[in-house]
Amino acid sequence: MARRKRNSVVVVGSSNTDMILRVARVPRPGETLLGGLFSTAPGGKGANQAVAAARAGGSVAFVARLGSDSLGDDALAGFMREGINISHVVRDPSRPSGVALIFVGDDGENSIGVAGGANQRLSPRDVAAAGRLIAGARVLLLQLETPLATVEAAADIGDRAGIEVILNPAPAQSLPDSLLRKIALLTPNETEASMLTGTRVTDVASATRAARALQRRGARNVIVTLGANGALVASGDEASWVPGFKVKAVDTTAAGDVFNGALAVRLAEGCPIIDAVRFAHAAAAISVTRSGAQPSIPTRSEINARLRR
Ligand code: ADP
Repeated sequence: MARRKRNSVVVVGSSNTDMILRVARVPRPGETLLGGLFSTAPGGKGANQAVAAARAGGSVAFVARLGSDSLGDDALAGFMREGINISHVVRDPSRPSGVALIFVGDDGENSIGVAGGANQRLSPRDVAAAGRLIAGARVLLLQLETPLATVEAAADIGDRAGIEVILNPAPAQSLPDSLLRKIALLTPNETEASMLTGTRVTDVASATRAARALQRRGARNVIVTLGANGALVASGDEASWVPGFKVKAVDTTAAGDVFNGALAVRLAEGCPIIDAVRFAHAAAAISVTRSGAQPSIPTRSEINARLRR
C-alpha cells in the first residue's frame, strides 16, 4: 500500500455550478420578472468540502463526475487552481454537469432547483477505480449528493483499508445501519440529526441524545453541528459541547461544508477531536462573515490567525 501522507484527505462527492438570479422577489409560477442580476459560483457539497480542505492545508484528492461541457471545464480549472488532485474526476459523456438554479429575492426568500446531472452517475465503479488513492489516504470525506450506493461503496473501501471515514449526512435523508457501522465520524447538523433519529434536535441536550442513538446504530463518533451554538461532540463514552466563535453572520451558505473540510484536515494531521473541532469552528465562522460559498472559504493562515485572537 502507498505510504500515507500525514495530511491526505480524499473527498468523494458532488460538484455543481450555482446559477444565481437576484430579483426583487421570487417569481410566481407563470410570472416573468425583469431587472434581475445574474451570477454564477462553483458549488456542490463535495466540491465545497474539497476546496475547504485544500485551503485549510490538506493534501486533497477529489473523486467526482463532471459533464463534458464548459461548466465542467470551469469546475475542473477551479480544482486545479486550488491544488486539488483531479486524477479521479471523470468527465461523463452523456450527462451535463450538475447545476443549481437559484432565485434570491431582496427579502432574502429563495427558491432553488437542482439538476444533479453527472453527479447522479458517480458510480461504485468510479469509487473502486480510485480504491488505491482512497486506501492511501488518512481520511475519507463523504456527503449525500451522489447516489447512496456510491457512498456505501466508498465507505466500504475506506473502512476495509482502516482509514478514518467521515460522513457528512447532507442533504438530510435516512440511512441504513449497515452504512453507519462503517463510519468513524458522522457530522449531521440539527436538521439532519432530526431526520436520522426521528426526534427533534434543537439544543445541546437533544443533540447529545441523538448522537448517542447514532452511536448505538454504529457510528463510532458523532458531531452534531448547532449553527451559531457550536457543536456537540460524542466521542466514545464522552460527550462535550464545543462552543463556536461569535461573529456577525452575513451568509451561512456552506458553513457546514467549510466545517467538514477543515475538520478532515486536522484529523488527518493526527489532531485530537476537540482541537480539530475548534479549528473547524474557526474556519466556518470566518466563512459566514463573507458572502458566497467557495469564495468565502478561508486559508490556513486566516484560520490560525482567528484561533490566536
Ligand atoms: P449547516 O451549514 O450544515 O447547516 P450549521 O448551521 O450547524 O451547519 O453550521 C456548521 C458550523 O458552522 C457550526 O458548527 C459553526 O462552526 C459554524 N457556524 C454556522 N453558523 C454560524 C454563526 N452564525 N456564527 C458562527 N459560526 C457559525
